[in-house]
Amino acid sequence: MTTDCLFCKIVAGEIPSEQVYSDEHVVVFKDINPKAAVHLLIVPREHIISLNDLEERHDGLMAYMMRLLPKLAKEQGLDKGFRTVINTGPGGGQLVFHLHIHLLGGEGLSGVGFSRAV
Ligand code: AMP
Ligand code: ZN
Repeated sequence: MTTDCLFCKIVAGEIPSEQVYSDEHVVVFKDINPKAAVHLLIVPREHIISLNDLEERHDGLMAYMMRLLPKLAKEQGLDKGFRTVINTGPGGGQLVFHLHIHLLGGEGLSGVGFSRAV
């Protein structure tokens, strides 16, 4: 746990979130500012800053999260498909510096990119 990290605090239960799934590796909760009808954040329990900070020992965790995505999407009723986004660094639009995967789908998801359809 890194003391000043928002997602570490959410993982530790110190800050409330709308959690939809958790296990020994990850916590999954609803994005507070959803860009589509379904907008989840898959957050590893370990504080990893971004994709830039991955080490070989994280290979299993990353594969685990990838395989979890379609299961979560199915649970959310996204039977037509879903989008995943990982923002990396300030140039990639990352705002919270604890690695996370956005899972988006359903009403409001635009065709390309990462903006809500109007
Ligand atoms: P990123 O730009 O990839 O770092 O995305 C950070 C995401 O975290 C944004 O989509 C925010 O809406 C979301 N977010 C920020 N604070 C919270 C919070 N307390 N609970 C849930 N999601 C949050
Ligand atoms: Zn953290």
